[in-house]
Amino acid sequence: MIVTSHNGHTKSYLKPRFRVDIVDERCIRCGCCVEQCSFDSMYFDTQYQRIGSTDENCVACHRCVVFCPTQAITIHQMSIEYKHNDHWRPDVIEDITRQSETGGVLITGMGSDKPWTCYWDKLCLNASQVTNPSIDPLREPMELRTFLGRKPDRLEIDPRTMEMKTTMGPQVRIETPIMFSAMSYGAVSLNVHEALARAASLAGTLYNTGEGGLHPKLFKYGPHTIVQVASGRFGVHPAYLDVGRIVEIKIGQGAKPGIGGHLPGEKVSATVATTRMIPQGTDALSPAPQHDIYSIEDLSQLIHALKEATNYTKPISVKIAAVHNSAAIASGIARAGADMIAIDGIRGSTGAAPKSIRDNVGIPIEMALASVDARLRAEGIRNQVSLVVAGGFRTSADVVKAIALGADAVYIGTAALISIGCTVCQACYTGRCAWGITTTDDKLTKRQNPEIAAERMANLLHSWSHEIKEMLGAMGINSIESLRGNRLHLRGVGLTRAEADILGVRLAGE
Ligand code: SF4
Ligand code: SF4
Ligand code: SF4
Repeated sequence: MIVTSHNGHTKSYLKPRFRVDIVDERCIRCGCCVEQCSFDSMYFDTQYQRIGSTDENCVACHRCVVFCPTQAITIHQMSIEYKHNDHWRPDVIEDITRQSETGGVLITGMGSDKPWTCYWDKLCLNASQVTNPSIDPLREPMELRTFLGRKPDRLEIDPRTMEMKTTMGPQVRIETPIMFSAMSYGAVSLNVHEALARAASLAGTLYNTGEGGLHPKLFKYGPHTIVQVASGRFGVHPAYLDVGRIVEIKIGQGAKPGIGGHLPGEKVSATVATTRMIPQGTDALSPAPQHDIYSIEDLSQLIHALKEATNYTKPISVKIAAVHNSAAIASGIARAGADMIAIDGIRGSTGAAPKSIRDNVGIPIEMALASVDARLRAEGIRNQVSLVVAGGFRTSADVVKAIALGADAVYIGTAALISIGCTVCQACYTGRCAWGITTTDDKLTKRQNPEIAAERMANLLHSWSHEIKEMLGAMGINSIESLRGNRLHLRGVGLTRAEADILGVRLAGE
């Protein structure tokens, strides 16, 4: 990105991060790349009658590469060599340079790109061999169906009729243990919101409105919608609560624990404003805390107010960021009456967040999940809440390992966006996403057709679900329920003993 100094007097010392190469013999001067580049990198050079590029503007979104009809374009990482220094790395030097030119907080998008240990890559799954045969999922039924909501401490059955006497709280059935994470209308376009809603309906699962309310056009997808109540209370009204299948109170988010949100006024279009119930063009500021929650008792009041408001027909979820004392917080949330807890880890994504927060605050979801599940089990209250985890899930194997560590279901966000073109260029905060995802610009949003995008997202869920069945079959299990919290199916490789103990897994070979 071009960064000019705030006084406009000095030349930027920032070097371009990418180089755009165009093979002139291949180029047919169709102008498609100029039209597709929303970052003003491509232009038509009238003097030389060829395509030129302003490399410092390129964010490597690859939109031009995909749409060039003659494959004339390649994008390269600039190979600028700094003198090697393990402490003053190039990214550190560039961040300081950028701050010295803007005087502002560094803002970024998507999830952290720091080399945090990914514990999913250090966990191996078990497989059946001789005594417990594996199952072929193509020949035998495999059960991925999951029920979310508070489960009773014990079940009472009438011995005469064999009918269940216990009254169950509201349960929500999903056909695969994968849901779409919270993404607000405003942060993403309405077409993307609609695509998420349609994909969730196609796959028999749920998507999450995030904190921006729900456009009336999408009310018909209510049975597949988790409606969020966040600190800004944007778009929260009786019909919104009524239409959702689950109500989620958002306390924290993995990409920015402890801070609020900021949707810049430029993204608050007329329809975003109506949906959020705020004036058009004004910044939508979500406060860092919920101003009516300063204790578990306060949280309990909001949970019960929402249960009352929705006539005890919907599970109430509470979403927190994964932090040092997540296990104690989760115990408090369960005791406060929540039916579900969603936990978002340090690799969780965002439309915009301060880089310093995104890359340094919080803990990996694997550690948080293992400790929360263990604590709730130790306290005998694990059945009272469903656990949903989020934060950078990339593959079906990550999902299987999360279930074995104790999750009921996972949220995916970035993976869903990648399925519709996102290249994780991290420029979401600019509002100029060339793929029409994290933008409310009228022209750019048309780049996502909700029907096609929904099909791509549903395909992703379908393939992951199929792969999950393959992995279950290999383990000799025919139901996801049998895997849930069964850490014996996991073995650690390359973990310290302390890490293995926190994760509650044995090391490979043990
Ligand atoms: S899209 Fe490809 S062929 Fe068309 S002008 Fe750009 S580089 Fe040339
Ligand atoms: S479309 Fe994307 S990859 Fe192509 S030049 Fe523009 S910013 Fe770079
Ligand atoms: S949503 Fe758009 S801007 Fe954000 S990372 Fe993906 S492609 Fe880049």
